[in-house]
Amino acid sequence: MHLITLGTAAGPAIRGTRHGIASAVVVDGQHYLVDFGLGMPRQAVEAGLTGNKLRQGFVTHLHSDHISELSAYMLYNWDTPVQGVTSRVGIMGPGRSPLPEGIRNEVSPPQTGMRDIVKNLMRAYAYDINIRTTDEARIPLDELFEGVDIELPRRPRADPDRSPVPDMEPFTIYEDERVRVKATLVDHLPVFPSFGFRFESEHGVITFSGDTAETPNMVALSQDADLLVHEVVNMDFYRDQDFTEEFLHHLESSHTSPEGIGRIAAEAGAKKVVVSHLAGVFSNADLAGIADTYDGPYTLAADRQLFSV
Ligand SMILES: [Zn+2]
Repeated sequence: MHLITLGTAAGPAIRGTRHGIASAVVVDGQHYLVDFGLGMPRQAVEAGLTGNKLRQGFVTHLHSDHISELSAYMLYNWDTPVQGVTSRVGIMGPGRSPLPEGIRNEVSPPQTGMRDIVKNLMRAYAYDINIRTTDEARIPLDELFEGVDIELPRRPRADPDRSPVPDMEPFTIYEDERVRVKATLVDHLPVFPSFGFRFESEHGVITFSGDTAETPNMVALSQDADLLVHEVVNMDFYRDQDFTEEFLHHLESSHTSPEGIGRIAAEAGAKKVVVSHLAGVFSNADLAGIADTYDGPYTLAADRQLFSV
């Protein structure tokens, strides 16, 4: 079982050479994708992860930096001419949800969830899809990729206004002969829902925080994980620059400091931490706070780095 960090940068921003957030879990030669950030279709193929070995995709939340390359991924992994997908795979992610009360407005266009997004992307590329389906005899793309809305558990009941991140046990969203994938709600408010994921196989456990502030749900999700892939924010990087108070507040209240990562990892008993989804620019020294709260090993992930379980 391997983790490959395809892209490690946070946000719809191009800073340096890092690609946008995307990761893969490889189990016995088959793989599973988590998030579709900038540059990931190329990163996946260059890592040897051609679409014909994809079993399922997962999206943590609907901020654009996590899904901006989903259309490209589908179009560049389409059927046999590109060693692509030839039988149905699901792309699982948040269902449609209203914005929280405080920021609710006349939203235009209307809110979408994962199922709608995949359908709408296909509609946007209808010309190309129609012509290649007939001219090149490719399998219709909508028979290969399907957006799947992740259903929230009935209890504890979560909603974007009164209880966006209740304490919960991880719940199973996907299972095949190699992996069981569980999800939990994480604290990336006002984004709702925002998920963390746990991949369990006979080889071990890899968990993903998605985007989140420090939350006890990540402790429950990452119990005894072999690898905890956690996001991070470098507030010093942003405070030194000319950003609005609103932007700084978003960063501080919906992301996690290095000390916070250490606390989560220690409490969960995670064996190793991989820091990815870097909000801001980081050197190893910027992560030193992790060691204040966690005794285990941690790595500042590079793009296309491989970690084995
Ligand atoms: Zn986000």
